[in-house]
Amino acid sequence: MGGLAVIGFVVLVRPGASVLRAAVMGGVALLALASGRARAAVPALAASVVVLLLLAPTLAVDGGFVLSVAATAAIVLLAPGWSRALRHRGTPGPVADALAVSAAAGLVTAPLIAALSGVVSIVSLPANLLAAPAVAPATVLGLLAALLSPLAPGPADALTWLAGWPVRWLVLIAERAAAVPDGVTGWPTGLPGALLLTAVLAAGAWALLRWPRLRPLALAALVGIVAVGWPLRQATRGWPVPDTVVVACDIGQGDALVLPTGPGEAVLVDAGPDPALVDGCLDRLGVDRLPLVVLSHLDADHVGGLTGALTGREVGEVATGTLTPTDERRPALDAAVAAAGAEHVVLRPGDRRTVGTAGFEALAPDPALAVPGGEPNDLSLVLRATQRGLRVLLTGDLGAEAEARLVASGVDLTADVVKVPHHGSADADPGFLSATGAVVALISVGADNTYGHPADRLLDMLAGMRVYRTDRDGDVAVSGSAGDWGVAVRGRDEALRATAAPPDTQEHGPGVPVRTHAAAAATRLPARAAPGRWRAPVVGRSGRHRVAAWPRARTAPCPDLPAPHRGRRGGAAARPRGLGRAGRGARAPPRQRGARARRRRAAGRAAG
Ligand SMILES: [Zn+2]
Repeated sequence: MGGLAVIGFVVLVRPGASVLRAAVMGGVALLALASGRARAAVPALAASVVVLLLLAPTLAVDGGFVLSVAATAAIVLLAPGWSRALRHRGTPGPVADALAVSAAAGLVTAPLIAALSGVVSIVSLPANLLAAPAVAPATVLGLLAALLSPLAPGPADALTWLAGWPVRWLVLIAERAAAVPDGVTGWPTGLPGALLLTAVLAAGAWALLRWPRLRPLALAALVGIVAVGWPLRQATRGWPVPDTVVVACDIGQGDALVLPTGPGEAVLVDAGPDPALVDGCLDRLGVDRLPLVVLSHLDADHVGGLTGALTGREVGEVATGTLTPTDERRPALDAAVAAAGAEHVVLRPGDRRTVGTAGFEALAPDPALAVPGGEPNDLSLVLRATQRGLRVLLTGDLGAEAEARLVASGVDLTADVVKVPHHGSADADPGFLSATGAVVALISVGADNTYGHPADRLLDMLAGMRVYRTDRDGDVAVSGSAGDWGVAVRGRDEALRATAAPPDTQEHGPGVPVRTHAAAAATRLPARAAPGRWRAPVVGRSGRHRVAAWPRARTAPCPDLPAPHRGRRGGAAARPRGLGRAGRGARAPPRQRGARARRRRAAGRAAG
């Protein structure tokens, strides 16, 4: 019966390489389970691998093939023994089977996943256990629906509807597991990473077998990490920073800036290239509502992640500058805006918006320049945002020509913080950057990007400003109020990047260790109004440094403040005591863990 189902499955979905692979591996596992003799499955597995490689030689370099062969081998060789051992200890049969299969497949594939993706997942075992009960109903109901659909469309629809529920459960588990903070940890990629993790796992297993007394100790350590260490880490992580004015999200090569305007509420300026990355940044800031989403222009590195930002959030207006009449990306934008139940508005110079604690003023582009064939970068919507007296100039991807034109027009460009145009491209006007008078420059740029951003020439132009870059600092937050503000960096979240980025962008090269620390480090910045009284920043344990003596960021990246010292010396979680809380305006939104889940449920209901 199982064999027939597998053959039916192959016929139904057409035998592509991945389907063939899945079917053959499923058949091997079935054979082992049906015969009850694990050893009998080994020759079958070996023969299947050889035949599959003869039929489709490209499978030899296919990560999915390696993973499914390894998982199948683990299921037929390790799982039965583990399951028996669990039953001996009184675990109910189905639970023992599910535990043994998940653990065996998870452990054996972990080194391969580490080598391929640079992450080790800590939540995969519980996630697989929770997902397991839904797999059979989803597969069987889906298969029946597919078989029935040519004969009786009505009942087939009903079966599809029924199959949707276990599938929703799978999606929910996948999303929730992926969203668990610190659920995955970074690991070296390539062969060294695989060997290292194999050695670590083997040493752990050997020690537990060799010294049985270690077992309760290991269990206690595990419980301690899960029950105490993990919550403590989340609590001391120091993100989001209180009184956040703007966060430049670490979303790779592109722009996504969040300006929190009240509890759970923010204005998003650009959405980066990847839905998962901008969604993650908004989640970390506890943002559920976006009364205003600004798109500087419609290039993919600014709008590619838009669905990730809009889906599951309450959205008001989506604003752009005047688009050229020939912009062919307009229909896609309209569709995304309509799907979110939002409204598209065009901001012209002089237009203003107020959202919560933040005010926005459009400075460019001049609608007269939006002629057919106009350069989209130079038509970037330029905004000045003001929160608690702090001014942030948001510049999209302006090029030198447009910048010079803006300076020549005499418009007031002054700000405390400038989002450096076009990810630090060399095509910049020094006069524009100095006209802003900004103290802090935020560069939103992807690590190892192929454009050479940020350019050395541009960094030279920023001399005298404190430079923060998302490729080195991760999420960067400016916080406080006029006269009393600072900058905090969250550190890079490589694990998140590795799970979200397409494979060709995560080439760290084999053996390059992936940093995962996310300690937020804070440095305070002076009030521009009183240059003579610039207070010293807190920099790690090394004490206070005068602002004027600070080296430029590109020669000395901002030192991260280790978490344990933050409470004492001030940091992202606790800004130095001297920094008074802003007298007016709302505080940065608190973490709202439940809110996201509620939203997902609401979205699920809507979909159902
Ligand atoms: Zn761009």
